[in-house]
Amino acid sequence: TVDVTVPALSLVALVGISGSGKSTFARRLFGPHEVLSSDAFRAMVSGDENDQSATADAFELLFAVAGKRLDRGLLTVVDATHVQPEARRKLVALARAHDVLPAAVVLDVPEAECAARNAARPDRQFGRGVLRRQSDQLRRGMRSLAKEGFRSVTVLRSAAEVDAARLVRTP
Ligand code: ATP
Ligand code: MG
Repeated sequence: TVDVTVPALSLVALVGISGSGKSTFARRLFGPHEVLSSDAFRAMVSGDENDQSATADAFELLFAVAGKRLDRGLLTVVDATHVQPEARRKLVALARAHDVLPAAVVLDVPEAECAARNAARPDRQFGRGVLRRQSDQLRRGMRSLAKEGFRSVTVLRSAAEVDAARLVRTP
C-alpha cells in the first residue's frame, strides 16, 4: 500500500486527467464535505457539469467556499484535473492566502485506461484529443510540483496504486 500523507490542515489538489479516478478516490478517502468538485460547481451555476463556459464562475465560487473552510481550520480537497500550471498556481496562492499548506496528489493512470473508462461514461464523450492534451500537460508539469510550492506531493503511479492508497493525516 502507498501512504498518501497530507497535513491535517491543508488544501489538497487532486491532479490527474479525466477518467484517472479523482472523484472515486476522493469519495473513498475523504469526507463528503471535504471535497469540492469543479463539476459540482459548474452544475450549480449552469445546470450542466460539462458546460465549460461556466468554468470561471464555478472556480470563483469553489475558491470562495474553500477559503471559508480553510479559515475554519477544515481540510479541503479540490477535485479538478489541475493539469495546467495556471490552475495549480491559483490553488497554491489560495492556500498561502489562508495560511495552510498546499498538497498535491497525482493520479498517474495510463491514458488508454482512462479513455476506456470514459468510453463507458455517458457524460464523458469527448474526443481522444482532449485526453491526449491533458496527458501531455500532466507529463510536463509533474516534475515541478514541489518547485511550484506544493509542500507535500504524492504520486500514485498506476490504477493499482490508486486503489491501494491509504490516507495519513499528519498533525
Ligand atoms: P473526471 O476528471 O472526468 O471527473 P475522474 O478523474 O473524476 O474523471 P472518476 O469519475 O473517479 O474519474 O472515474 C472515472 C471512471 O472510472 C468511473 O466510471 C469510475 O467508476 C471508474 N473508476 C474510477 N476509479 C477506478 C478504479 N480505481 N478502478 C476501476 N475503475 C475506476
Ligand atoms: Mg471527477
